[in-house]
Amino acid sequence: MASRTGIALGSNLGNRLANLREARDRLVGLMPPETTFLQSSVYQSEPVGCPSNSPDFYNAVIEIDYVGQPHDLLQATQGIEWHIGRTATAERNAPRLIDLDILYFDQHVMDGDILTLPHPGLIYRRFVLRPLTDIRPHLILPGDETTVGEHFRQLDSDEPELRLVQTVW
Ligand code: AMP
Repeated sequence: MASRTGIALGSNLGNRLANLREARDRLVGLMPPETTFLQSSVYQSEPVGCPSNSPDFYNAVIEIDYVGQPHDLLQATQGIEWHIGRTATAERNAPRLIDLDILYFDQHVMDGDILTLPHPGLIYRRFVLRPLTDIRPHLILPGDETTVGEHFRQLDSDEPELRLVQTVW
């Protein structure tokens, strides 16, 4: 049976929109036939916790159906990152062609060496909450009592507002 899973996409190197599109298309390609996916608008955000002079990010969130276990999906998202051209780098949060984070995977809760679900940064990051609120404002994550939309409204963050890049992509 398929699980519903939310994935955050980010790019701050190269043709950012093309990188998001390619990642989206490859993620949608993992879905069983005749299933539907949701996608947020694309937003531009200032880099958080990145080396100085890092370019702005383009961010989006999609939700897909996935048949398999969370670790299988992580392998698939890492394969897509490598395919699009992300290379291993020693510098933390260095500019990257694509970054894929699994935000939630149905009701799975895990805190492992390799995978943490729901993603621990989700409710603190404007560049995740804003696009996720586009597609799933009423979602309540496992272990939580507050909707995603409410987390977004209550966000207490110094991060500036995101700039809408485009709704259709
Ligand atoms: P990053 O460099 O920020 O993309 O971090 C990638 C590492 O975070 C990977 O090696 C994963 O094993 C780990 N990780 C833990 N939880 C998650 C998650 N929910 N989604 C994606 N990566 C995760």
